[in-house]
Amino acid sequence: MRDRFSAERGKTAVQFGFSACIVPAMPDTGKVYSIEDLRAWRGADPAFAVIGKPIAHSLSPKMHNAAFEAFQKKVPALAGRKYFRFEIEPTELAAALPLFFEKNFFGLNLTIPHKVTALPLLKKKSPVVAIIGAANTLSRDDASGGWAGDNTDGGGFERAVEMRLGRKLAGTPVLLLGAGGAARAVAVAALSAGCASLTVANRSRERAGELVSDLKIHFPMGKISIRGNFSRENSADVPAASLVVNATSLGLKIGDASPFPPELLREGMAVYDTTYGEHTAPLVAAARKRNVPADDGRAMLAWQGALAFEIWNGVPANDVFPLMYSAVALKK
Ligand code: NDP
Repeated sequence: MRDRFSAERGKTAVQFGFSACIVPAMPDTGKVYSIEDLRAWRGADPAFAVIGKPIAHSLSPKMHNAAFEAFQKKVPALAGRKYFRFEIEPTELAAALPLFFEKNFFGLNLTIPHKVTALPLLKKKSPVVAIIGAANTLSRDDASGGWAGDNTDGGGFERAVEMRLGRKLAGTPVLLLGAGGAARAVAVAALSAGCASLTVANRSRERAGELVSDLKIHFPMGKISIRGNFSRENSADVPAASLVVNATSLGLKIGDASPFPPELLREGMAVYDTTYGEHTAPLVAAARKRNVPADDGRAMLAWQGALAFEIWNGVPANDVFPLMYSAVALKK
């Protein structure tokens, strides 16, 4: 268990180095804050935030504040910790990161569009960040006076697949749809776990090519290939036991097309769709109709959050996950 702050448990806010001045009004975890709000921030308690654009829809504050509320009763050192959301423009990121540090934020989650562009602004990067080329979890690093970057998306994906689909990535042929940030995290998780093969298919073949070239540098022994579209005529080579992963944004909106031809789904396959919304994604619906096990991205979301919570607060992700998962569950 990683426990960066165990030595600091029991300290008061002042001992942590926070100014003794208390915010005039309690910051609101439901509000969307801006960089101007950050400039005026006077919170005395250790704070956390997700930053992105757009950000109003993010479920991260709900997950993390549910976990804080539950664990603050058991772990006194977590008292006062809260998680906020900030809408930060791409042009504001370089100014915002040092400001968050100056204002005594302990941890940040990055989402679209900052996961890649933040990398040159970090003081430290975990090995997985260097391979994926994107960070979603930043931790305050007082020794370097800046942020240390990690990525919990891949770990979240691996745990979600095991838990929700009963599949291990080791030995599984993975068919990855997409080549953006989420796809990169999925690809690195699959190859690190020893998947049987990884096939990348993306709308922009050039972007898929860049991903495959990068992966081949880090996983020279991996069986990695790229392919174009799928049709009944050209898909005889798709392994029967494939795990089909949707890491495109197709499926987010009602009315989106399926990112993979449903007629190619067959017994033995499984589907993990990283998207999540208030509706069932078309690929998940098509798979279930054919009795192919399928799940949406909620478990991955909750696992990546639980892994970030562990990094920041020293509470094991296994203990945090159930709370975070129920905080983002679809209302029946
Ligand atoms: P990026 O913008 O980096 O990548 C988007 C990907 O989707 C690219 O491969 C892009 O293809 C593809 N795409 C977009 N529109 C279409 C379309 N109309 N037809 C076909 N392909 C399309 O985004 P991310 O990788 O950060 O996010 C991708 C998805 O992953 C999102 O839905 C996000 O919600 C989900 N996600 C889920 C997480 C979770 O915890 N469950 C965590 C992170 C992301 P091209 O290269 O051709 O543009």
